[in-house]
Amino acid sequence: MTPFAAALLGLVSGAGLGALAVWLGVRHASARTASEVVARQQLTEILAPLAAAVVVVTAADTVLAASSFAKACGLARGSSIGPSAVVDLLAEARASGRPVERDLRLPAGPSSPAVQLDVKVVPLSNGAAVVVGEDRSADLRFSETRRDFVANITHELKTPIGAITLLAEAADAAADEPDAVRAFLGKLMKEARRLNELVSQIIALSRLQAQNPLLAAHEVDVQALLEASVARCREIAAASDVALSMSAPPGLTVLGDAEELETAVTNLVQNAIAYSEPGARVAVSSQASGSHVDIRVSDNGIGISDADQKRIFERFYRVDAGRSRASGGTGLGLSIVKHVAQAHGGEVAVWSRLGQGSTFTLRLPASQEGAPAWPGC
Ligand code: ADP
Repeated sequence: MTPFAAALLGLVSGAGLGALAVWLGVRHASARTASEVVARQQLTEILAPLAAAVVVVTAADTVLAASSFAKACGLARGSSIGPSAVVDLLAEARASGRPVERDLRLPAGPSSPAVQLDVKVVPLSNGAAVVVGEDRSADLRFSETRRDFVANITHELKTPIGAITLLAEAADAAADEPDAVRAFLGKLMKEARRLNELVSQIIALSRLQAQNPLLAAHEVDVQALLEASVARCREIAAASDVALSMSAPPGLTVLGDAEELETAVTNLVQNAIAYSEPGARVAVSSQASGSHVDIRVSDNGIGISDADQKRIFERFYRVDAGRSRASGGTGLGLSIVKHVAQAHGGEVAVWSRLGQGSTFTLRLPASQEGAPAWPGC
């Protein structure tokens, strides 16, 4: 029996709720006394705020009390147990006189999402029982996301690796034609660089997920941060005929990891250049906004539709895969930006209109001298 179920059993058979223990074994509610009703009310109050789905049922499977989550996910429906599988588990637990445990998926209701529960049914000595459902939906979602991520990585890696193999074979076959060999090698190097960029971004993303930058945070000067990011993009901006400008007042600071923040801002600037036509303008700026610092990267490039704006922060999502690949994109840049923002206690938002351009805003908490790096430390 879980400690929680044991504690519940203690409660329902203890002195404070003794009347309830009697009622639990009674089949007809008409036998209730005033003290039993009070005891039931007490039990309901105890269960209501619990994070787990907990239901106490009588010997006749009537719901006596249920936690709010048990009602929300449909484990308890009014005075009945919702899923028939749990009714079967109750019968099985009573017949064996021992707790039984099963994984159950409860379908979505009109106002509740589908949930995956680890359900334990603990029979009590008087025929009543306690049903405890631990929500495993987040674990399941996490492993599904990981599986999708691995599948995506495999697919993304296969493309440049396949191209490198073919180009190496082609160069070998054309060994007697120096011009052809040089052309194949040029393409091969481009694919190798793409592979390198992809692997670096995958590593960056998994590092970001594994560590908390605020635990070893430093004061980061925002002006210097923007200068460094813009400097990294000057060459590509010039090659793309895009005018890159910067305006950042001195004195703004945020707490965090300078390298991660520079990666995030650089990704936004590289995108602004990559998704603009020659002659476009890209502006990088920062300003204080209450207790935050806003870093903005604006372009008057191709823009992003409303539907795509909802998905561009997903890993490997690209509006136009061809254009992304042609500019050396991996589909991971914006998910890295999102992770960096969140890990620093901030967020990233996008405004965009198709054909007009886009503005990405990285909003970070401004650092306050003497404040702890992590709230609560
Ligand atoms: P990628 O490596 O493909 O650029 P990102 O995660 O950085 O991947 O961006 C996801 C997609 O969002 C891009 O493929 C592109 O379609 C779109 N996008 C990102 N930034 C911009 C921008 N400034 N203007 C237009 N589209 C953009």
